Amino acid sequence: MKKVYLDNASTTAIRAEVIHEMTKVMSDDYGNPSSTHSFGRNAKSILELSRKSIAKHFNISAQEFIFTSCGTEANNWILRSAVKDLKVKRIITSKIEHHAVLYTVMALQEEFGIQVDYVAVKPNGAIDTTNLVELLSRETKTLVSLMHVNNETGTVLDIERIGLICKQHNALFHSDTVQSIGKANIDLQKIPADFIVASAHKFHGPKGVGFAFVRKNSGLQPLFFGGEQEKGLRAGTEALHQIAGMAKALEISYANLELESAQISALRTYLISQLELEFPAFEINGTAAGFYTVLNVLLPFSEDKTSMILFHLDMKGIAVSRGSACQSGSVKPSHVLAEMLSNEDLKKPSLRISFSHYNTKEDIDTLIQALKTI
Ligand code: PLP
Repeated sequence: MKKVYLDNASTTAIRAEVIHEMTKVMSDDYGNPSSTHSFGRNAKSILELSRKSIAKHFNISAQEFIFTSCGTEANNWILRSAVKDLKVKRIITSKIEHHAVLYTVMALQEEFGIQVDYVAVKPNGAIDTTNLVELLSRETKTLVSLMHVNNETGTVLDIERIGLICKQHNALFHSDTVQSIGKANIDLQKIPADFIVASAHKFHGPKGVGFAFVRKNSGLQPLFFGGEQEKGLRAGTEALHQIAGMAKALEISYANLELESAQISALRTYLISQLELEFPAFEINGTAAGFYTVLNVLLPFSEDKTSMILFHLDMKGIAVSRGSACQSGSVKPSHVLAEMLSNEDLKKPSLRISFSHYNTKEDIDTLIQALKTI
């Protein structure tokens, strides 16, 4: 049975060149970057070349990138230190953020008693910017945390505009850019974000490595303590093979961005056209103009199909994800879709289909055929 992987917002296949690079570093460049001998100096050089290579894609200096173990760690670090060390008293975020942001903000609210405000979300999943401006016009030290591309619906936020609005209101701006890094150009000279984060496994790199962009002189303090790695901001011996793999993955992603994004966009458009043909009553959760790697659809099936649809597709070798998480037999609606859909629609089956350049038209045809047998 040919398998079809359409769950690329969850994680992506590692590129062969990345595996090659990581294997080389693991076998030949095993020195500790903190050691002063030649093995260490060699490792340090790979570390700093990786940082430089990453920084150039964002048009900003390498010193402003700190390597972390994942996107979750980067989000936790920034938000926690903003409250603890930068004395942020209020966070404005939205209810459609990833749990790496949402749960961190809730924990900080509990621990530090900060004020948390949630910006209104429109039925199409877009952030209500007018509401953000209304919320911002107050006098407390504030951080705004809003994601660039939503991992469930592909809704895109204009982070340049939001960054400017935050600047005008003297608020810090953090954006979870995990879904867009490697898939969209981000110029940090133009976008006035204070903090953005990345995770390599979302752009065909290894799992267990990511980075935080932290603008110069931010004042952020470490999340945990130990060695002097990463200018003392992130203790722990650097996972050199992961970092080199991440830099390689990013380099290839940006070198092929135009080609691969066009190919993926065409697949997404093809899927929409096939759904229109075979399931004319389907609806897009979000908008047809959403980010090119994700399509979240509400299928015109009865409610009783909701709990078995993923299982059915999995039996046919097709991996997609559902907009709802099934927990111990009951279907718990996605917190993102819960902000966008009516209670009635929330019970119906929604699917998140997310693409990479490894997908083909045949993959879409296989999915459509499988859906027809449900
Ligand atoms: N933020 C977003 C938007 C994501 O999609 C994910 C991954 O699912 C994360 C954060 C967490 O990243 P990581 O898996 O590297 O911890």
